Parts: sequence; C-alpha cells; structure tokens
Amino acid sequence: MDKWNIETKCVQSGYRPQNGEPREVPIYQSTTFKYDTSADMAKLFDLEASGYFYTRLQNPTNDLVAAKIAAMEGGTAGMLTSSGQAANFFAIFNIANAGDHIISSSSIYGGTFNLFNVTMRKMGIEFTFVSPDCTEEELEAAFRPNTKAVFGESIANPALTVIDFEKFASAAHAHGVPFIVDNTFPTPVNCRPFEFGVDIITHSTTKYMDGHGSAVGGAIVDSGRFDWMAHADKFPGLTTPDDSYHGITYAEKFGKEGAFITKATAQLMRDFGSIQSPQNAYYLNLGLESLHVRMKQHCANAMALAEFLKSSPKAEFVNYPSLPGDKYYDVAMKYMPNGSCGVVSFGVKGGRAAAEEFMKKLRIFAIETHVADARSCCLHPASSTHRQLTDEELDACGVAGNLVRMSCGLENTEDLVADVANALG
Ligand SMILES: *Cc1c(COP(=O)(O)O)cnc(C)c1O
Repeated sequence: MDKWNIETKCVQSGYRPQNGEPREVPIYQSTTFKYDTSADMAKLFDLEASGYFYTRLQNPTNDLVAAKIAAMEGGTAGMLTSSGQAANFFAIFNIANAGDHIISSSSIYGGTFNLFNVTMRKMGIEFTFVSPDCTEEELEAAFRPNTKAVFGESIANPALTVIDFEKFASAAHAHGVPFIVDNTFPTPVNCRPFEFGVDIITHSTTKYMDGHGSAVGGAIVDSGRFDWMAHADKFPGLTTPDDSYHGITYAEKFGKEGAFITKATAQLMRDFGSIQSPQNAYYLNLGLESLHVRMKQHCANAMALAEFLKSSPKAEFVNYPSLPGDKYYDVAMKYMPNGSCGVVSFGVKGGRAAAEEFMKKLRIFAIETHVADARSCCLHPASSTHRQLTDEELDACGVAGNLVRMSCGLENTEDLVADVANALG
C-alpha cells in the first residue's frame, strides 16, 4: 500500500507506467482478451491465475482506476461498478442472501433506500432502518441472529447527517458482521472511514470523484480487515467452496485482503454484468487526479453559503455539518476535521411553494437531480428524488417538504452567495 498523502495518491496511485509505456491510463477498449492456449485461459476461469478474459467481469483500465481509489481509502482491494446503485447492491448481496437481514441507517440516499426497502426485500432480504442518532441500546435491539451487515452513509445525501463510525462499527463487530459505509459525499480526501473501524466502503463515483457530470459509476473498496473465517457460519458464500468456481473457498484462497472483492467480481459481475465502461473509468481517473484540489473549493463555497443562510431571515433552518452549531458539527469535526462536502441544505421560509419559487429565481444554481460536480446545482427532494416516499418515510430520511439541497460547484464564492441572496429576495 502506498504511504503517500492523499493528494499524491489522487495523482499517482493505481497506474505506474513501466519504461516506454503510455503516461496516461490507457483505455483498454476491448471486450475480450487473446490467449495462446486453452490451458492458459482455463487457469483464469479456475481463478488459478489473474488476468483478463472478458470485460463483463474485469477490464485492465477499470482495475487501474479501482486500485487508485483503494489506495486513497487505505484499502486492500477495489472494484469499479457501473453506478453507485450497483456498488451498494453488490456490497450487500455479496454477503446476504434470501432469509438474511441487514441493519441500515434510515438517513441514506433515496435511491439506496428504495433499493433496500423495495427491490432487495423482494429478493427475500430483510432490512431494519435505525436513526443515525440512535442510542447504543436501540442499535443493539435491531440485531437478529441472521443479521449479516450494518450499513450507513458517512454524510447522508440529502439529509447531511453524519454517522458516528465508532458507535456503528463496534456494534457490528460485537455481532460478528461488517460495517459498510457509502463514502460518496466527503470522498477519501475529507474522510477515510477505514481509520474508524469501517470494513467496506462504497462510492457513487458519479459525484465528486468524476466531478464533471460526465460519467455514471460506482466503486467498492475492502479494508481487508474483516475476518470472514472467524465468523464462518454467517458467511458461507465466502467460507465454503463455490461450486461455480471448482470448489474455491474465497476466504481461504484470497485471504481477508482479497476475498470480498474477488467473490464480488467472480460471481456478481459475472452474473449481473454491472461493469463500468473503460471509457468512463478513464474519465473517472481524470476527475480523481484533481479531486483534492476541487474538494477544497467545493467546501469553501459551501461554508460561505451555509454562513450566509444561517444569518438570513428567509431560511428556516440550515444543515451543513462543518458549520459550528450544526447538529452534526462535533461528529464531523471528529471524523472529517478538514472539511465535509460541498452540499448545503436549508429550509425556505414559507414552505414547499416558497422553495419552488426560490429555485426558479436562481441564475447560477441550476435545477438538476445531480449533485457534486463543477457547476452549482440545486434540487427540491420532496418533488423529485424523494417523490415516491410517503411523508413518514420523508421524515425518517430527514427530508422536510421545504428543504432545498444546494450543491456548490467550483465558481467564485461571492457570486454563488449573491445568486442565493438575490433569489431569496
Ligand atoms: C448518487 C448516490 C448514490 C447512487 O449512485 P449512482 O451513481 O447515481 O447510481 C448512492 N449513494 C449516494 C450517497 C449518492 O449520492
């Protein structure tokens, strides 16, 4: 693992060209790979040798970029997926089958909530949602004998709650299951959850990592620390032979460091094919090379906007974890002292209609479903991303009807604040 600081990892980790090789990450725009003998290829199919045979499972460009993200998070193995949705689905489905149970923070991205609460329930996996602010006793009470993982978002989109890693990790570990965290919003530039007991990290790379609104993608990184064999009865998929791979036992053959990602690649990528295109992986790498520079400006803009809104009589409330006085300020200072993210949410005084009126008047912030790219944008979750949720479910996600999510881009700070001040009237 590279010992560099995060800024150097953003630029240098993953691809290290040898003498005479391309300086830029090459795009392996090829579905397939050529071998001299069938025996060579057979070794790949048996996972006896590592290499590439078909891009539905693995591609060299993707692996170089995944290796960079793994280095940035301080993990041992990583993989790219076609989207953040695919990353979260794979991270859970890799260790939970029909009849199993997952504990998730209730304060998560609407798409993830729907994936868990609707689609994965149909697959026979049960979910219990707990508040990120729950007590240790409440968290403890959510565990069942068939619980296989605990899930949360480091900074939740769009509620901007910050999860207490140590509280959730120690409960998960006391029950012999991993703690999985979606680290999309702070990115490893601002927060590295593995340093606080998290076992597996997921990302929607569509957001800050790409950073330019050009490529949908996801990633999964393994800390390499969760001991599957020590809890072998809970994770038979990793600790007993896989008949679809000639009796390989992932946790034995690939160890703690490699078992999770190898299984997710060999089984889930093979069967679901949610691969990121190598071209998108290339765009993602371009974004990663400047992530550390961009996050500073996103955060500075968000802080200025949050401070302005806090002093504005037109704002009913402001959520920004790095803002002194925020409900999550102390947790944010503990886990992400150098900054959180570029997203600020606030409640427009006057309710739902006032929120919609405010958004119409903005000139720089554009109305988009997206967040976290170079251009500032905003969204009214209650009428868009969270439309399918009931009022009770909205409350559970921490999303009020008048809440507007402001994603601060890379523009000039005063221009952004002036745009909001003008639209609030
Ligand atoms: C956007 C987002 C996702 C889903 O990612 P896609 O790339 O859109 O599939 C998951 N988690 C969080 C925190 C997100 O912001």
